[in-house]
Amino acid sequence: MTKVAENNSQTIAKNLATVREQLHDLAAESSYVNEVQLVAVSKRHPIEAVQAAAAAGQRDFGENYVQEGVAKINALAELSLTWHFIGPLQSNKTRDVAEHFDWVQSVEREKIARRLNDQRPADKPPLNVLLQVNIDDDDNKSGLAPAQVMALAKFVDACERVQLRGLMTILKAGTEPTQQRQSFARMRSLFEQLQQTFGSSVDTLSMGMSGDMRQAVLEGANMVRIGTAIFGQRE
Ligand SMILES: *Cc1c(COP(=O)(O)O)cnc(C)c1O
Repeated sequence: MTKVAENNSQTIAKNLATVREQLHDLAAESSYVNEVQLVAVSKRHPIEAVQAAAAAGQRDFGENYVQEGVAKINALAELSLTWHFIGPLQSNKTRDVAEHFDWVQSVEREKIARRLNDQRPADKPPLNVLLQVNIDDDDNKSGLAPAQVMALAKFVDACERVQLRGLMTILKAGTEPTQQRQSFARMRSLFEQLQQTFGSSVDTLSMGMSGDMRQAVLEGANMVRIGTAIFGQRE
């Protein structure tokens, strides 16, 4: 390993340890969760960065771009990592996602859910799916309006090859912590409605990134998606 790569690996391991410790403390402080699953968002970082995180014990990784994600998944197949697709998904890319990823967190249309269901290979377990909610009604963000969630959840729940696991959101940029908590709290109540309707197989509320992880976990996130705080700034 080159000196630069080695320094970088050490930084990633140290950052990961810090984030894990913060999550542990936040879970203890939160009234809603006991444990928070960490998805390390490796988009636009090289394969070596994923390897460094994996060597430090990280198992779950998130990618936004299909080609970049599939290349990493193939290159690191022997590590048996768990891969989450978290970016916007067009219908002509669903096959690659259905064949390679373990989770899709950004489902927001019936057409996409149907294609993922049809294209999930028979020799793999059902694809885990989260519905993406545009909780702040942000024009720049994809995602379902809260009022549309139940209808798509019913559709996904009836599919054999995709498993409805819960909800995901990305907040509007530049909002204050108090406002963030209100948005996350609205997500929690949607999530609770979903659990009441579909039962305990709905178990995942994915919210919180490097900038709003604290507010998210305090309001009940049991999965966070962290990029910058682990891998540094993206190019
Ligand atoms: C990039 C991205 C993240 C990680 O963001 P950071 O601010 O770098 O932690 C999380 N979720 C989604 C959907 C993303 O696109």
